[in-house]
Amino acid sequence: MKVLILGGTTEASALARALAEREIPARFSYAGRVAAPKPQPLPTRVGGFGGIDGLAAFLKAEGITHLIDATHPFAEQMSRHAVAAAEQTGTRLLALTRPPWALQPGDDWQRVDSIEAAVEALAGPPQRVLLAIGRMHLAAFAARPEHHYLLRLIDRPDTPPPLPHHTLTVDRGPFTREGDLALLREHGVERLVCKNAGGAGAAAKLEAARILALPVVMIDRPALPPRREAHTLDEALQWLGH
Ligand code: NAP
Repeated sequence: MKVLILGGTTEASALARALAEREIPARFSYAGRVAAPKPQPLPTRVGGFGGIDGLAAFLKAEGITHLIDATHPFAEQMSRHAVAAAEQTGTRLLALTRPPWALQPGDDWQRVDSIEAAVEALAGPPQRVLLAIGRMHLAAFAARPEHHYLLRLIDRPDTPPPLPHHTLTVDRGPFTREGDLALLREHGVERLVCKNAGGAGAAAKLEAARILALPVVMIDRPALPPRREAHTLDEALQWLGH
């Protein structure tokens, strides 16, 4: 048995620790988006594989028997490639994902199905918006330059985001309800835009929004091809026969 973990999430790191503790042969893969990724207790490679064929070649060359896609629920391309490459090579595939957040009493969500739809949803008078979507798709919000955006990113970007009015905070989760309440109050945030990532560490902003009765534009997850999914570490270990 040899496992490849596609990482970039808290869940992937927890799985890496569990495999290392059990001495299950495994490798870890990062996309390489973050300047100083969390060190892993497994041999780690960084960077894209070169599409489906690149990943398939890697699986074969490394003798990977079990592929665990523990990427973020919005890492759509990587997850699609994992399904295709696993099929091509006959590698067993499991997706370790966290359940999406569900609406709770007191929440005021407008659900949208894409970044573009989230931009649409911001039509209206200028507001102070917490834009918590990572750094990849910020440029789409240049179409709504009237708003003031509070951005929370893991690294300071090399080039300033193309948003005329913004404030940048550089921070890495997990976040706390108290911390996010303070952040929203300090910046006078009136609305949030976020992806339905699920998980505990990023849910703090939703709890804070609930307390302050702020509306949230919630971007739903991309649809993915059918694949076997697990929501917990235990399920993933069971799938590996441990
Ligand atoms: P993506 O759009 O699905 O992937 C773009 C390309 O990046 C993939 O085709 C692949 O390149 C490479 N890639 C992605 N994840 C990889 C991994 N774990 N190992 C090696 N190559 C990888 O992904 P993304 O949305 O840019 O996310 C990149 C990474 O950041 C993911 O690992 C994800 O877990 C993490 N992340 C994403 C988000 C988010 O909101 N999207 C949030 C938090 C963390 P090739 O085609 O060349 O193989």
